[in-house]
Amino acid sequence: MDLAIIGSGPAALTAAIYAARAGVKTEVFEKAKIGGALTEIDRIENYPGFVGAGADLAENLKKQANEAGAKISYGTCEKIAAGETGLEIIIDGEPVATRAVLVATGSEPKTLELDTTSPISYCAICDAPLYKGKNIAVIGGGNSAVQEALYLSEIVNHIVLYSHSGLKADAVLVDKIKAAGNIEIHENAMPTKAELDALDGVFVFIGKRPATTFLPSDLLDEKGYIKTRDYAAAPGIFAAGDVRSGSTKQAITAAADGAAAALAAVEYLKK
Ligand SMILES: Cc1cc2nc3c(=O)[nH]c(=O)nc-3n(C[C@H](O)[C@H](O)[C@H](O)COP(=O)(O)OP(=O)(O)OC[C@H]3O[C@@H](n4cnc5c(N)ncnc54)[C@H](O)[C@@H]3O)c2cc1C
Repeated sequence: MDLAIIGSGPAALTAAIYAARAGVKTEVFEKAKIGGALTEIDRIENYPGFVGAGADLAENLKKQANEAGAKISYGTCEKIAAGETGLEIIIDGEPVATRAVLVATGSEPKTLELDTTSPISYCAICDAPLYKGKNIAVIGGGNSAVQEALYLSEIVNHIVLYSHSGLKADAVLVDKIKAAGNIEIHENAMPTKAELDALDGVFVFIGKRPATTFLPSDLLDEKGYIKTRDYAAAPGIFAAGDVRSGSTKQAITAAADGAAAALAAVEYLKK
């Protein structure tokens, strides 16, 4: 294989389209859902040229990558190391030889230790149907917490939102959440066990951390994001999207990053 792409969010699938179209033998490895975080977006409105469900955008990208000739497989990348010729990646315990790797593993939700008997979820789209007509808590006060609370408010009966600080979401979102009829907002407050136990479920949206535990620490910045220069982290190892240090963590910029990193990888492979 010429290029192994780790992850299948907008960065990875765009990189796959560009690399495969350049004639590079490309395989994408995804550990969970094809489409990455796009599959969790109820409605995306700021992706130029596309408005709709994130899952539909993911499906379009997957189809386009397949049609360009990229192979898309399931598998978790556990390690990247120097091989006999080129690089070796470990996918689900098995070594796979490749000339270059493009890491586009995005980020994962930060978890919170909560003392409660109520079930805890980190994904509104995945679990909202379980709480139809029920009463829930949302924990968090940033853009994603507010966006997710608004989505959940259409499905559940009542939401109590707790933010340990004031709401930090964009003004337009704060206006919307304050106007929603069934969201009670508690700023500078965290719930007690009794308050959470009295509800049917708890959704936690307190930020994300990069999915880079399988990489050597010298490739990472102090927060665990991949440091790059011209999209390269080390010879033959490229990074794109939310996982790259300094990224702006938006679907469109992840896609743009994927295109630029793929072109850098294609140049590297030509040499
Ligand atoms: C609820 C929500 C709403 C959002 N709303 C918007 C919005 O309205 N507009 C917008 O522009 N952006 C939005 N975003 C952000 C946007 O989804 C991300 O910026 C974008 O998806 C990042 O793309 P990515 O390809 O870098 O990573 P991701 O989409 O996170 O994909 C990374 C993929 O890598 C996989 N992976 C991780 N580790 C491994 C491994 N070791 N081996 C194999 N695979 C691995 C993961 O399973 C995942 O599928 C939202 C995100 C969320 C969660």
